[in-house]
Amino acid sequence: MAKTTKKRRGPQKAAKVELDVPVRVGQTVEVEITGLNHEGAGVGRVEGYTLFVDGALAGERVRARVDHVKKNFGFAKLSEVVEASEHRFMPPCPLYDRCGGCSLQHLAYEEQLRHKQQIVRDNLRRIGGFSVEGEGAITVHPTLGMSDPWRYRNKAQVPIGEENGALVGGFYAEKSHSIIDMNECLIQHQANDDAVTAVKKAATKLNIAPYDEVRGTGLLRHVVVKVGVKTGEVMVVLVTTEETIPQREQLVEAIRSQVTGVASIVQNINPDKTNVIFGKKTVTLWGSDVIYDYIGPIKFAISARSFYQVNPAQTEVLYNKTLEYAGATGTETVIDAYCGIGTISLFLAQKSKHVYGVEIVPEAIADAKRNAELNGLGNATFEAGPAEVVIPAWKEKGIRADVIVVDPPRKGCDEALLMTILEMQPERVVYVSCNPSTLARDLKVLAERYEVKEVQPVDMFPHTGHVESVALLLRNDTEERKA
Ligand code: SAH
Repeated sequence: MAKTTKKRRGPQKAAKVELDVPVRVGQTVEVEITGLNHEGAGVGRVEGYTLFVDGALAGERVRARVDHVKKNFGFAKLSEVVEASEHRFMPPCPLYDRCGGCSLQHLAYEEQLRHKQQIVRDNLRRIGGFSVEGEGAITVHPTLGMSDPWRYRNKAQVPIGEENGALVGGFYAEKSHSIIDMNECLIQHQANDDAVTAVKKAATKLNIAPYDEVRGTGLLRHVVVKVGVKTGEVMVVLVTTEETIPQREQLVEAIRSQVTGVASIVQNINPDKTNVIFGKKTVTLWGSDVIYDYIGPIKFAISARSFYQVNPAQTEVLYNKTLEYAGATGTETVIDAYCGIGTISLFLAQKSKHVYGVEIVPEAIADAKRNAELNGLGNATFEAGPAEVVIPAWKEKGIRADVIVVDPPRKGCDEALLMTILEMQPERVVYVSCNPSTLARDLKVLAERYEVKEVQPVDMFPHTGHVESVALLLRNDTEERKA
């Protein structure tokens, strides 16, 4: 699963060793942008030297100030668009330039989708060595996007701080510990924005001390809000430095009366001086310790700490594609590697004989088991551990799979797992990927025994550079492949 916060690069201090490159830090250059990289930055060249310019689009001529140089490429900040692309779009978010959460709002949505399809193609060709055009090429479908690509996120994680004596919450200003106050995030579900605003107001009224990141003082560090988009249930998580909240009763009462749909108010205690959001201890202050949501017909319990896809509408699109590619008819044995809380596994369990899910985080496996029970799906077995260890052990036990689904983190599949897949030889492999470069690398390994039939990009994170896709692989000797 991918985060939507992109890393911010600070300006470079005077380089210790002078690099032999045609630009220097601080210099303003005019550059023609020829493409977009996988993070959504414009790519241009100055005397053959590659420069990445955030906010610039392919086909544009821009002026940009160089702020970081490396041996083979550098980074520059957009100062002026000299010739604009016809696809340039006025970002509707007033804080767009300062936030960094989205990197493609300035590109028309249709073009974002086309760009993501192209990124998948480029990676398959460059890294995987596959042909993506002409005879025998892999079909990379147009990206499945959202009809309304706004307000799709079901989870907000907002840092709280103090600015001029007032409690504020929003996002960190670039290169600083200060927080820019934000009451509206256009990719966030409206219920989450409303809940965060209500909590900030209540905390201000009750004089609850905001956290000071530099000194490590104060009480309220983060407000996390989750919404079950299908059920309307809202969970508010207050992350505090201490367990005792002096005004606790009033705060809970204010949240109960002000936040529509609130079903759960939870406190998480994080006393450490760290930028990790959650601490170890979680207590329920009011209501249930979980909220519920549905993806398709499957119901999920979501706790304060459990991982859940952030764009539920597109998750359904992605999982339906995964189900279609798995070709399950009700008689198949399926393995779901990197299964998280069992979302794909349970989706597949509806249409197969048995599903085996494996995931490295034990708490997620506990959630997966609970979710299987919640849906009365008795044909799913879950085990905690590394997929590359657990699946070979299943193989030793005599478990055979007709289909193996993998949905690894950004770094892709472990080599040992790919070898196990080649040994187990399921008829189909369905590869769900949040990183086209590791997808291409891993497909190249699997190509020894499998044909990559098609790849479907799905836009899970509109306006950000993240590219999600799902690939269908068929074993070389299967009937369908011959057909
Ligand atoms: N399929 C799930 C989660 C995918 S995210 C969903 O759609 O919601 C990738 C998951 O892989 C994470 O939950 C992560 O904890 C898990 N993971 C990372 N390394 C792993 C490994 N070596 N073996 C098994 N699971 C792993």
